[in-house]
Amino acid sequence: NGPVRVNMANVDSPLQIFVRAKKKINDIFVEIDDYVKDAVSFMHAVSGEKGIATPQDVANVEAYVSKVQAIREVLKRDHMKVAFFGRTSNGKSTVINAMLHDKILPSGIGHTTNCFLQVEGSDTNEAFLRTDGSEEKLNVQSVSQLGHALCASRLQECSLVHVYWPRELCALLRDDVVLVDSPGVDVTPNLDEWIDQYCLDADVFVLVANAESTLMVTEKNFFHKVSTKISQPNIFILNNRWDASASEPEYLDQVRTQHANRCVDFLSRELRVCSPKEAEERIFFISAKEALLTRMREREKPVSSPILADGHQVRYFEFVDFERKFEECISQSAVRTKFAQHSRRGKNIAADVMAALEQVYNSATDRKTTMVEKQRLLHEQLSAIEEQLTTITRQMKDKINRMVESVEHKVSLTLSQ
Ligand code: GDP
Repeated sequence: NGPVRVNMANVDSPLQIFVRAKKKINDIFVEIDDYVKDAVSFMHAVSGEKGIATPQDVANVEAYVSKVQAIREVLKRDHMKVAFFGRTSNGKSTVINAMLHDKILPSGIGHTTNCFLQVEGSDTNEAFLRTDGSEEKLNVQSVSQLGHALCASRLQECSLVHVYWPRELCALLRDDVVLVDSPGVDVTPNLDEWIDQYCLDADVFVLVANAESTLMVTEKNFFHKVSTKISQPNIFILNNRWDASASEPEYLDQVRTQHANRCVDFLSRELRVCSPKEAEERIFFISAKEALLTRMREREKPVSSPILADGHQVRYFEFVDFERKFEECISQSAVRTKFAQHSRRGKNIAADVMAALEQVYNSATDRKTTMVEKQRLLHEQLSAIEEQLTTITRQMKDKINRMVESVEHKVSLTLSQ
């Protein structure tokens, strides 16, 4: 079984809102880059001997080249980030695997994640691990290898491991979604540190709860903390392991209503992150295990699977429905928070460079006016001198004439004596 490539033309996905916006803003910044570089060449052309732009003017515009470059670098790396939280064994890793259509993260007993795992697209065809702050790449071929590598590296609970997986194998990764799995909220009290280090830039939070029990205080506490640090976080609640309800169909509706009411209450009244109506759209009853199994079968991957419980199709549809709403939410939120700021900066840079060019233009115009004025004064002075000269010449001529006349007169007088 070779790798199954995802269908490349996923134009219907709501994630395309982000993908297209990212392409557009990247293209715009290429134009801004060209514009700034043109401005720099112009400044150079009119500085130096020409003396129209000062060295300071040139330096001011040149500084924007590296600013634009830095923004372009950030833009290239911008992504949508979703973080998963919940108690140990609620099924966080399984949910992530189901969304990625493959068993990427190790899950189950003995593989409790005791650090943060960030799954993101790899631009090469390789899958590899990298711990935060290190450049060393650890190649991984399989899930069990990944599990062992994680155990062997003796990671701190608060450390972050990047799992790079070939983009072409997962639609979410290809469209720049980054998924973060966390240690169970019941395992560690370092919630503040977690949030500050890994969550402040998350676009969406997913609480993976256990439908077989009620929301726990530890789970609630975590999101209380999140909502004090992030204004209006986007939170989804997955009531996982809903396949367990198949064994007690007579209570199904009753249990579901009870869970749903509590979750709506939690999001709208306790956390106040949305209205009760909006909260209803954020709560799902799913079975990640079944969803993953269904997808593994679709990809013709070997699965050791039992027969799926009654109602698995309905649960699967609800999982797909969750994915759609999640994709809409994450792409819109990421466009708003990430690109709005960049486009504002882009506008400011364009305006600043324009102002700098205008200033040089104005000082050139001023100089021209001054030179014309100088020329006019010079012209006037010259005319005055010319006039004076004419007068002087005329007077001198008269004088000479008179002198000649008097000499002639004297000579003729002398001759006649
Ligand atoms: P995590 O610690 O929250 O990441 O939980 P895991 O994803 O590792 O799941 C713990 C165990 O629960 C694994 O054995 C999974 O197969 C199982 N599990 C996960 N989701 C479901 C589900 O929807 N139904 C059932 N019955 N088991 C599940």
